[in-house]
Order: sequence, then structure tokens, then C-alpha cells
Amino acid sequence: MKTLIAGGSIGGIVAALYLHRVGIDVGILERAEEIRELCVGINMLPHAVEALAELGLLAEPDAIGIRTHDLIQPNRNGGPESVIDMIEARAPDGFTDIGAVAS
Ligand SMILES: Cc1cc2nc3c(=O)[nH]c(=O)nc-3n(C[C@H](O)[C@H](O)[C@H](O)COP(=O)(O)OP(=O)(O)OC[C@H]3O[C@@H](n4cnc5c(N)ncnc54)[C@H](O)[C@@H]3O)c2cc1C
Repeated sequence: MKTLIAGGSIGGIVAALYLHRVGIDVGILERAEEIRELCVGINMLPHAVEALAELGLLAEPDAIGIRTHDLIQPNRNGGPESVIDMIEARAPDGFTDIGAVAS
């Protein structure tokens, strides 16, 4: 059985990788003619980090990213409105958030 996924961004690629792992023949259709960088910082939440680990793709983002310790929401004066300790808030299986800044 051949499965086709419309959209080759993160959702489509991750779905394709999981389907491939269970032996399903999968192709991706992407309407964009080229893949370009957005040049923005990327923050990966714990469930996304867990998925990358399951797929064996965590080493590279872990090498270039920073494990987030505190998630700080600033108030209008630039001070902290709220601070979430991401080490405390990590997923039950221990996966934490990774932040990476585009160069
Ligand atoms: C500036 C910005 C910063 C962000 N930062 C973060 C972040 O730090 N952390 C985070 O977790 N999320 C972040 N997000 C959100 C994240 O980008 C989205 O949640 C994520 O991209 C959704 O993935 P997706 O694969 O579902 O959809 P999309 O990324 O929207 O991908 C859909 C793809 O399908 C293609 N497509 C659409 N229609 C068709 C068609 N008919 N045929 C073929 N292809 C088609 C599109 O070209 C596109 O490539 C950010 C978003 C923006 C805009």
C-alpha cells in the first residue's frame, strides 16, 4: 500500500517517518518549489523532543540547541510576568524543551 501525504513541513515529514518505521510505503507531495530557512529561533516543546528521540533524530538539534531551563514571559516593563521551571515541568519520561537560535 502506498500512502501519500500532502505537505512536506514538520507534520508531514514526521508522519512519513513514523509510517516508514512500520513498513508503510509513503511519499510526500509538497507544493513549495524549494525549502528555505525562516531565520527565526525555534523552540521545541518536550513532546516534539520526545518524537525526535523516538525517530533517532535528536543528536543534531541537541548539539546546536540549548536545553531550556526557564520559560520567562515578560511583562510590559520587561520584567518577568511568569517564570516556568522547564526542568520541573518536563514530560514524565524526562524529555525537556530545546531552544535553538537561527544563525
Ligand atoms: C514565525 C513562526 C515561528 C514559529 N516558531 C515555532 C517554534 O519555535 N516552535 C514550534 O513548535 N512552532 C513554531 N511555529 C509553529 C510551527 O511552524 C507550526 O506549528 C508548524 O509549522 C505546523 O506544521 P505543519 O506541518 O502542520 O504545517 P505547515 O508548517 O504549515 O506545513 C504545511 C505544508 O503543506 C504544504 N501544502 C499546503 N497545501 C498543500 C497542497 N495542497 N499540496 C501540497 N503541499 C501543500 C505547504 O507548502 C507547507 O509546506 C512557528 C510558526 C511561525 C509562523
